Amino acid sequence: MKISRKDFLRVSGLSCFALAARKVAGAAGRTRWGMAIDTAKCLTQANCTKCITACHQAHNVPSLPDPRHEVRWIWKEPFEHAFREQTDEYSPLRAAPAIVLCNHCDNPPCVRVCPTQATFQREDGIVAMDYHRCIGCRYCMAACPYGSRSFNWEDPRPYIHQANLGFPTRTKGVVEKCDFCSERLAAGQQPACVEACPVKALVFGNLADARSPIRELLASRRHMRRKPELGTRPQVFYIV
Ligand code: SF4
Repeated sequence: MKISRKDFLRVSGLSCFALAARKVAGAAGRTRWGMAIDTAKCLTQANCTKCITACHQAHNVPSLPDPRHEVRWIWKEPFEHAFREQTDEYSPLRAAPAIVLCNHCDNPPCVRVCPTQATFQREDGIVAMDYHRCIGCRYCMAACPYGSRSFNWEDPRPYIHQANLGFPTRTKGVVEKCDFCSERLAAGQQPACVEACPVKALVFGNLADARSPIRELLASRRHMRRKPELGTRPQVFYIV
């Protein structure tokens, strides 16, 4: 089988990206990345989608016209869907949808079921993807209890507006999801969604450091996680 130079460069580019991701994981040491979402602050920005736009632009997430084929890394979910276990009908949080994304679970069922190790957990806790190893079996999608993964039912490239040439695009038949902006972390930057939020409702940091701002926030404010009863130990926290 002949392989064109263009295809070779594309595949080798993806491989280098994945290898770099695993290398960063090894060098990360005692870091455990996590995110806290201040729901009250988020509620002050009705209809705001700046975090979603920033994430999807940074990661070449396509805007597909068919809603059944939607690809999403971060989005808004009705409160009663995001937190089915919260039965308080008078909670003010019910007033607006909640921001949801991959929880980068400490005990990720998606990683356990992947037959090719296309999805794996780094030493810093990030549940990452190696796109060129993904065979599209979608076991990870079935295993994720949060619906955090999307499948490319069609070629996503024609539906990417303003492509970011610094981040790989995906192909038809590949699963994708939030990567906690591991590429930005490697460059010393905050995740795109965190940077884009006008009211700083998203706080990202090292959960292994008791003096980090995220740990101080979690120590001082009540918080909850999605579906804690499942034992997946999400590392995205909702301040209430
Ligand atoms: Fe895996 Fe879903 Fe947990 Fe993300 S939220 S780590 S995709 S199980």
